[in-house]
Amino acid sequence: MEFGLDKCAKATFKRGRLTKTTNIDLDTSTTIKEIDQEGTYKYLGVNEGDGIQHSAMKEKIRKEYLRRVRMVLKSELNAANRFEAINTLAIPVVTYSFNIINWKMSDIKKLDTKTRKILTMERMHHPKADVNRLYLPRAEGGRGLIQLELTFKTTTIGLDTYLRSTKDPLLQLVKHHEEGKKLYSIKKEASKFTQELNIPETPPMENETITKYARRVKQKAKHHGQLQMRKTWEEKPMHGKYPKRTKDADVDEVKTNKWLKSIGLKAETEGLIIAAQDQSLATRSYHHRIMKDGTDPQCRICGKYEETIDHIISGCPELAKTEYIHRHDKAASYLHWEICKEYKIKTTEKWYEHQPKTITENDEVTILWGMPIQTDREIKANRPDIIIKYKTRKECILIDMAIPSEHNTSVKVTEKLSKYKDLEIEINRMWGTKTTTIPVVIGALGLVKKGLEKYTDKIPGNINIQEVQKIALLGTAHIIRRVLSIK
Ligand SMILES: [Zn+2]
Repeated sequence: MEFGLDKCAKATFKRGRLTKTTNIDLDTSTTIKEIDQEGTYKYLGVNEGDGIQHSAMKEKIRKEYLRRVRMVLKSELNAANRFEAINTLAIPVVTYSFNIINWKMSDIKKLDTKTRKILTMERMHHPKADVNRLYLPRAEGGRGLIQLELTFKTTTIGLDTYLRSTKDPLLQLVKHHEEGKKLYSIKKEASKFTQELNIPETPPMENETITKYARRVKQKAKHHGQLQMRKTWEEKPMHGKYPKRTKDADVDEVKTNKWLKSIGLKAETEGLIIAAQDQSLATRSYHHRIMKDGTDPQCRICGKYEETIDHIISGCPELAKTEYIHRHDKAASYLHWEICKEYKIKTTEKWYEHQPKTITENDEVTILWGMPIQTDREIKANRPDIIIKYKTRKECILIDMAIPSEHNTSVKVTEKLSKYKDLEIEINRMWGTKTTTIPVVIGALGLVKKGLEKYTDKIPGNINIQEVQKIALLGTAHIIRRVLSIK
């Protein structure tokens, strides 16, 4: 073993005051010097001199934390990765010092607030979007940012559990010293936080080590903290609409929330979609009803209906003529591209460069794109997005895509199925085939209904629901940006 003598320094305290003494010479070439002028010594990265210099350390930690947050937000990372980077690179700078530096809850809350301000400046977090949602796991529809406030509470609870259970005589001394404190003792703080988070009594299990026990209590505290945040989010009249909808029986909550984890949206686009789901964008209806600033609530495009988020993303008759068709065609052409690939028909390398032709065919199939079918009997709904007619067997598939608002998704599926019933019958009669209609419906803000995969699995090719969801969300983001930029 070798000592890193070059890293050693000494400090002498007489009656609690730092005094100067001579260097210690170990041999002719090695000396342990007096500590440097600032009088600080780092123990595990924490400056110590005459005790810990708490306020100097707090300032140092705060600066370093914010420097790292800003650094992450300057990067090219997508939204999900930026949050992940903040969690792993910036958050630990603060959390490592918990229960060593005497942080007050107000200090910690200020840091969370400052973080949100920076996110808002970078257009990642809309100032009126839900705060609780930022701190919930992405798989549950949140954005997965670690909240310093909750971490401070859980760390304190974990440490308290550990100190209460330890048999180690030295740690018991720590415990007694702690309990003697009038203010901010770990015990008092922990019991306050336990009450706030509403954590039930958690006794140790048989043969559970103290470390494991403390960790389990900490996990439980975190879980309860998140439950509270989820509840607060869902109970908000506007912010709560979307999370409540995802809990409905007809919604596939897991697939609906997948976009937050896997499609890699840019930070600003994710912020915009979240704000739209939270009903917090400054539409004319929002100005009229929430801000009450006398704005006319009618839509700036059509002038006929109230300009709500729903109206902009799927209900405007004027936007339906251009923008909605564009978004819809993008999603349908992705399906067409996958179908072409399945039948080894030459396509572009990227789906978004693919321009479907009205008729595409090979020896096996004929694929029709947006082509009306001439029937003997007049049928109104005679133009599904894609028709696949097999040459080798008597079978035919009708595919129709829709991107309605979140509360219309269920109606849309039934509507599509019945809408093409007449066409199915006519085609069967004319071509002697067995025909199936496949509706592909996804919410304009990404909502996925239960059983969507049962439909997409019937489409030849490798249809990825996440890709369809991404196309819908990007289309919707584009529409929102366009409309809100018109004054
Ligand atoms: Zn309109």
